[in-house]
Amino acid sequence: MQKIHSKRGIDFRIRGWPGERLIELDDPDRVAVPVDKLPVAKAGLLVKPGDRVRLGSVLFADKKRPWLKFLSPGAGRVSQINYGPRRVIKELVIDLDGDEKYVDFERFSLAGLRAAGRREIVDAIVAGGLWWALRRLPFRDVPDPDVVPPQILVGLAAKEPFSPLVELVLRDDPDLLRTGIEILEKLAPKVIVYTHADNHEVLRTAGDVVNLVVDGRYPADDPATVLYRTKQSASENRSWYIDYQDLLLVAGLLTTGRLPTRRIFAVGGTRAPSRVHFRSRLGVPVSHLVDIRAIEAGSRLIAGGILRGYSLEPDGFMGIFETGLAVLPANREAEFLALFRPGFNRPTNSRAFASRLRRRELEYDCGRQGPERACISCMYCADVCPVDILPQMLYKAILAQEVEEYLAHGLLDCVRCGLCSYVCPSKIELTENFEKAKMEYARQQ
Ligand code: SF4
Ligand code: SF4
Repeated sequence: MQKIHSKRGIDFRIRGWPGERLIELDDPDRVAVPVDKLPVAKAGLLVKPGDRVRLGSVLFADKKRPWLKFLSPGAGRVSQINYGPRRVIKELVIDLDGDEKYVDFERFSLAGLRAAGRREIVDAIVAGGLWWALRRLPFRDVPDPDVVPPQILVGLAAKEPFSPLVELVLRDDPDLLRTGIEILEKLAPKVIVYTHADNHEVLRTAGDVVNLVVDGRYPADDPATVLYRTKQSASENRSWYIDYQDLLLVAGLLTTGRLPTRRIFAVGGTRAPSRVHFRSRLGVPVSHLVDIRAIEAGSRLIAGGILRGYSLEPDGFMGIFETGLAVLPANREAEFLALFRPGFNRPTNSRAFASRLRRRELEYDCGRQGPERACISCMYCADVCPVDILPQMLYKAILAQEVEEYLAHGLLDCVRCGLCSYVCPSKIELTENFEKAKMEYARQQ
């Protein structure tokens, strides 16, 4: 088994990790598909408010890529179509009626799956509305089903703070993961299944499918970091990846002929009323996972990771890619005479504070702790970057709009881990600028 070590990154000593308890939740009254968080150019609606839908009815498809469809994660009535700024669709809400009528999709036996060709498997995933689960590097967009990628990466790891414990997710049905990997082997000539060296339980239960072990701090287990560390040639830059929970959905779809909707969410953070794992439905309301009334004022709900996720309103819904929800203080209260204190409780990577010397977990908040200032060339950002970028140089090339130069500085290798912004003492929004430049470059391409 191949092993790689990533030297850079950060070990978050963060308080509020969800425990190992898994709570099975009843279905919520309603679910939604948050459209504005999807990699969709323009959503073409196929339903209107008042329509009745089954589990698996097509709600909308991308106008430019009709094969990219999004299905209803429940049976019921389309109750709301909410719009954001410039009349862009924000979310579709479905009131569940409890009878769970569903659309039948093609169902494969294990032997049938093994005998099927690539086209058959692609068509079944596209028809079952789960093609969105596959993502393509470096832009993390949804790949064209007709293109054969050099390889597909599947990470059975979770260094991102407050993501679900992999062993807990795999405990119920480890064979479903094996089926999922057989499905991926139909789509690409090579499938890399990796886990983190710390994850002994995963190595014990699913070690037979793991062919790579990664070691190192966050984001050593991000697929883009793994690709950077393992790629042999530039042709691998367009590799695909899939989240392991999404792979279980794909395997469930093809083996049951029915769109699976259950997934495990981790709820963490010091302000979360209970820090546990919940099994619930795709598109679940945030208020079904946390008791909103029990959350202290001045807290923020974050989905998709504390460094690269986004804020959710208490009446919002979990996006279809999200499996983690963090509840953190929005801002740290200003300490009296903070400049003259050693900072034992300050969650920072800076060598200027005494918290670096202590190993205990600290409370993180969402505040920036000050306005943006000029770069002081401290190189902290380069010290943590997992893909050897010099973020301060890349930032300058982007500001100067020097396309050749920012590509040479590795813009396309950036894994959007957020660490450079997190450690920057000048509070420069490096990651945000890199992501904008990358998206702009993708649009021009
Ligand atoms: S961490 Fe911030 S201040 Fe330091 S070199 Fe990087 S961009 Fe400049
Ligand atoms: S440039 Fe910043 S966001 Fe990109 S990989 Fe490096 S540390 Fe992470």
